[in-house]
Amino acid sequence: MEKKGAILILSGPSGCGKSTLLKNVYKNISDYYFSISTTTREPRDGEKDGVDYFFVSKNEFEEDIKNGQFLEWAEVHGNYYGTSLKPIKKALNKGKLVIFDIDVQGHEIVRKKLNDLVTSVFITTPSLKILEQRLNNRDTDSNAVISKRLDNARLEIKSFQKYDYFIVNDDLEKASSELVSIANITRIKSKLYDNESIINNWIH
Ligand code: ADP
Ligand code: 5GP
Repeated sequence: MEKKGAILILSGPSGCGKSTLLKNVYKNISDYYFSISTTTREPRDGEKDGVDYFFVSKNEFEEDIKNGQFLEWAEVHGNYYGTSLKPIKKALNKGKLVIFDIDVQGHEIVRKKLNDLVTSVFITTPSLKILEQRLNNRDTDSNAVISKRLDNARLEIKSFQKYDYFIVNDDLEKASSELVSIANITRIKSKLYDNESIINNWIH
């Protein structure tokens, strides 16, 4: 039975634990492709170009916008972030589960463009205070950068009901098992099947 690829979008305040959760659940998800975003922000210690992000200059990013390379892009915390269209198309054509870690603006754009394929989950910490503690403990950003991220988090949380699912990442194992359930459900959405051919094949 032919089935289209599917998209799973994860959003949530920076520092809520999206990357940690993803690393924890990959072993339990099959046939996925993680969408590596392009960004103009500086790499953090330990981040690798082409693994965590494609790190580019502002000029390069603006060139890519002009050339229509992005499925979506947004300015977040004063930097550009974007999802390149080509690798996504390729992964979807192979029937993969394509996983995005993008902000609330990116989620709205992808929803508008590819709604039938999208399932989305908003992830957060139990409170803003705990988010602040996690950003401080992660120790990757300056106080000014952390403060910008916390300000943005107050706005982002207001969009949580635009998402299909909501995970509070308090206990990592509990949140991971919820994320695996969502990834599994994303793969069996009825809209991923071709309506006419399913009905015709089923009747005949
Ligand atoms: P994001 O990708 O959303 O920006 P990270 O995955 O980098 O967030 O996590 C931010 C920090 O919080 C990291 O130091 C990580 O180890 C920690 N963290 C993630 N999940 C939990 C959790 N459930 N409990 C406690 N700390 C967590
Ligand atoms: P960070 O700098 O902490 O890696 O990411 C900051 C924010 O940018 C997070 O909310 C993350 O989800 C978002 N982000 C990462 N890549 C993209 C992208 O390609 N597009 C959009 N719109 N947001 C992104």
